[in-house]
Amino acid sequence: MAQIIDGKKIAAKVRGEIAAECAELLKKGIQPGLAVIIVGDDPASKVYVRNKKKACEEVGFHSEVYELPEATTEDELLALVGRLNNDDRIHGILVQLPLPRHLNDDIIIANIDPKKDVDAFHPVNVGKIMIGNYDFLPCTPAGVMVMLKECGIDPAGKECVVVGRSNIVGKPQAMLLLHANGTVTVCHSKTKNLADVTRRADILVVAIGKADFITGDMVKDGAVVIDVGMNRRPDGKLTGDVDFASVEPKASFITPVPGGVGPMTITMLLQNTLTSAKRVAGTPPRA
Ligand code: NAP
Repeated sequence: MAQIIDGKKIAAKVRGEIAAECAELLKKGIQPGLAVIIVGDDPASKVYVRNKKKACEEVGFHSEVYELPEATTEDELLALVGRLNNDDRIHGILVQLPLPRHLNDDIIIANIDPKKDVDAFHPVNVGKIMIGNYDFLPCTPAGVMVMLKECGIDPAGKECVVVGRSNIVGKPQAMLLLHANGTVTVCHSKTKNLADVTRRADILVVAIGKADFITGDMVKDGAVVIDVGMNRRPDGKLTGDVDFASVEPKASFITPVPGGVGPMTITMLLQNTLTSAKRVAGTPPRA
């Protein structure tokens, strides 16, 4: 029987700490501020944006949401990003991805001031993560590292297998585990004999976007299993990339979906915004 890693509980604890730090900053006249930009009408993205705004309010942050029409041009979006780059009330800028097809995610991200890039997607921040000298950590992998720490799980010397190599989850996750002295293997869709690799893992992090893909026979007894996946079943229910029913009896620790990694991601976004605000804490905010 695995111990269930309660992402909601850990997220609540970290958010409490963030709220306390925010209160200290407010005494100095600084209110951490996050701007979220969404282009188009994707309902799922709109829900994420609403959740981010609510999370900001709960910890005492200032937040601004820009809901732009689908027809927004690159110039218009870049003008808004430029304005927010120069707005002292805003310490973090997040552009909800994916953008509509006529807009290039990479161009927009590259125009966010790296000091306000709280998603840590700007090439400067990606490079900093690579060399281990970072200001912001990408939210989802950072959330996973906090969960491991809260459970007393130290990756040092352990076999860590990351399934998935996306720029937002798999690759930075591998890098953070490496910085934590894990022995890291990254798998992807071209990996041969995937189960042979996943069965070696002391810590298995799965981020592929395929419902219930990792089954009990692919997991070593006593492994720590972190399920980043978020997939909608035909009945509308949310499920992870890990088949919880067959993996849970073998694992020592496991994250559920929902209620595992998900709540940590927005928490880390708040953490990054706080980090950014603390950096400028000596600077009075614009009136
Ligand atoms: P992505 O960009 O689609 O990347 C998926 C990765 O999985 C790719 O590297 C792909 O390999 C690999 N993959 C696909 N099928 C595979 C297979 N059969 N065997 C081994 N590897 C396979 O996805 P993502 O953005 O990283 O997201 C992954 C999942 O995490 C999704 O369910 C997403 O919704 C979820 N997610 C959750 C959170 C959260 O807050 N909980 C945050 C972000 C993402 P190739 O590179 O070879 O194509």
